Amino acid sequence: MIEPTRIQRLNDRAERGGDFVLYWMQQSQRASFNPALEYAVREANGRDLPVAVVFGVMDDYPEANARHYAFMLQGLQDVGRRLANRRIAFAVRHGAPEKIALDLARDAALLVCDRGYLRHQRKWRENVAGSAPCPVVQIEGDVVVPVDVASDKSEFAARTLRPKILRHRDDYLRSLDDSEVTRDGLGLMLGSDVDLSDISRLLARLDIDHTVGPVKRFTGGTGEARRRLAEFLRNRLPGYGDGRNEPGDWQCSFMSAYLHFGQISPVELARRVQETQGGSRNDRGTYLEELIVRRELAINFVHFAPSYDSYDALPEWARRTLSDHARDRRARIYGREDLEAAETHDPNWNAAMREMVHTGFMHNYMRMYWAKKILEWSATPEQAFATALALNNKYFLDGRDPNSYANVAWCFGLHDRAWTERPVFGKIRYMNDKGLLRKFDMDRYIEAVDRLVAAEKDPD
Ligand SMILES: Cc1cc2nc3c(=O)[nH]c(=O)nc-3n(C[C@H](O)[C@H](O)[C@H](O)COP(=O)(O)OP(=O)(O)OC[C@H]3O[C@@H](n4cnc5c(N)ncnc54)[C@H](O)[C@@H]3O)c2cc1C
Repeated sequence: MIEPTRIQRLNDRAERGGDFVLYWMQQSQRASFNPALEYAVREANGRDLPVAVVFGVMDDYPEANARHYAFMLQGLQDVGRRLANRRIAFAVRHGAPEKIALDLARDAALLVCDRGYLRHQRKWRENVAGSAPCPVVQIEGDVVVPVDVASDKSEFAARTLRPKILRHRDDYLRSLDDSEVTRDGLGLMLGSDVDLSDISRLLARLDIDHTVGPVKRFTGGTGEARRRLAEFLRNRLPGYGDGRNEPGDWQCSFMSAYLHFGQISPVELARRVQETQGGSRNDRGTYLEELIVRRELAINFVHFAPSYDSYDALPEWARRTLSDHARDRRARIYGREDLEAAETHDPNWNAAMREMVHTGFMHNYMRMYWAKKILEWSATPEQAFATALALNNKYFLDGRDPNSYANVAWCFGLHDRAWTERPVFGKIRYMNDKGLLRKFDMDRYIEAVDRLVAAEKDPD
């Protein structure tokens, strides 16, 4: 089922004929459990037209590098296979997504798009809706509760959003079956000019940032996301509630990059967790809290805060307390190069940085510690914020996401409360290595990261 509140008409162009119904795929990079795609199929069937799906690959996507592109292109390969099985035409074109969408919109009866919340994603859709000659409809398929249904303002903290989300949550956890396509679209000529058959070759040809390369730890695509999910439900959901914080165990689902690229639906994920026999009520509840309340709090943040990526988006109390302590003496100051090279005095922090640089991921608990230490070891809080966000987006496969902006900002006071005042941090929540060493087996984490890094470097 596609809930009507996921559907938004973006312009008022009159209905018209055309050669196909166009789904301009950008955020929801998947061929099943995708409400935008299913909406396009149903609209096409109603008009006795085929469906055409188009994706635009641009060279200069904000902050993206070869690591991100490789994962995305693997996912698009998967999309191509699945769409072909459903007799749906798929074009991948090289260039600016909005231009490509508008080019194909000339022959479309209707243009359907998915929804993204970051500045450039919103701008593209606005431009397409303003210039397309046909009606444009946006379908919001990468959240459980649509952002405007959940709240009409920037939420203060998880505790203020939670009751609003929970009021609606179960109404949106519905299954979504593939609709049968009545007109075969495979004969459509859509001018696809990106060949996904050899991703290494394609990557080499793209004029993108190659300084950060692909990782072996993660392969993109819906099939791979579902395989990992099944493994998580079987082996690591049991115990997730209590075990998720232990860095050396990675008792987590590894779904963040798949969610970021829209390769898996959060509704599908939540339903699978709800339906599974494994794990306790606490395990399932904790997971759904992270996946829905915390993740959608981040989406609420970027949706309502125009400067979500800037230090100015921090709450006023946080900026004030950090400013009061901006001149405090720092025991150590590291520049970005030392940090990026994982060359600090702290072996736990260095291990976390190595996990990030070499494997594109970092355990959630270590992400908190990592960003807090950048605040502690930088000359100014503004510099710390900029460094943490830049490194986050450069190395994480799940970077450049609403979760990136909200979580880095959380380490500087967003969605948190004031704590006991102390040097450098002021009233911002503090973390230290004594806490890590008391609670966790950090030697095990460091050794495990060494193994992961060695596997990445293995030339096999
Ligand atoms: C400093 C810092 C930076 C972070 N940067 C990112 C980022 O760039 N991209 C990103 O997706 N997440 C980020 N997070 C949030 C979180 O660490 C990751 O989403 C999580 O570790 C991903 O692993 P997983 O999918 O195995 O999580 P699981 O524990 O399996 O959780 C399932 C899903 O719940 C959501 N989730 C989990 N923890 C959080 C959280 N704290 N806030 C919001 N949603 C959450 C994610 O979508 C995740 O995929 C950051 C956290 C911190 C403290």
